[in-house]
Amino acid sequence: MSVNIISETKREILEKAPPKNIRQHIWHKKTTEPGEIIAAYVSKHAEAKMRNHAMAFRSQKLEVMGLLLGEVRIWEGQEYVLVRDVVTTDLDATSVSVKFDSGSFQTLFENLDDAGFDYVVVGWYHSHPGYGCFLSKTDLRTHEGTFVSRHQVAIVIDPLNIQIEAFRVQEEKGRIVRFEVYWDEWDDPYGGLKKVKK
Ligand SMILES: [Zn+2]
Repeated sequence: MSVNIISETKREILEKAPPKNIRQHIWHKKTTEPGEIIAAYVSKHAEAKMRNHAMAFRSQKLEVMGLLLGEVRIWEGQEYVLVRDVVTTDLDATSVSVKFDSGSFQTLFENLDDAGFDYVVVGWYHSHPGYGCFLSKTDLRTHEGTFVSRHQVAIVIDPLNIQIEAFRVQEEKGRIVRFEVYWDEWDDPYGGLKKVKK
């Protein structure tokens, strides 16, 4: 099976309504303001994988990290990302830093391969075990160096304080944005994505 990562700049943004069956994440502390834009819709499947990943390293207080896979959409003039799945690999982590382990990119690409979908990387997630949800100076550098589009999101999970937040980066600052967890495609193993032909 071929790896099929499409640079989102090469792909047309789909004009498509967001999922309707949504819920606010129970760990999401941000109070939503009326009329506020929802920057990301995260599938129940992707949400559980990220949260379980962070929780698995909670007692060792190690950071975790992965990529958000899905698509970029526009609806009523607002861009948002749909996160269908997440992928990760071996990590080189401490309680205050994380990066993909050198030499583990092959595993990451094999994991991407296993996803078997035609997708784009719409952002990344990582954890802050015990020190809250924000983007550090290093996080901002990582984000701006890797995720150049304005709609790409960074999700930060604190598995000790039981908190999750999504951020967009604007003018070198991380701004908390609203995100929702969606259920509609929960029963569809392909989530409406085009299966990549082998
Ligand atoms: Zn961080």
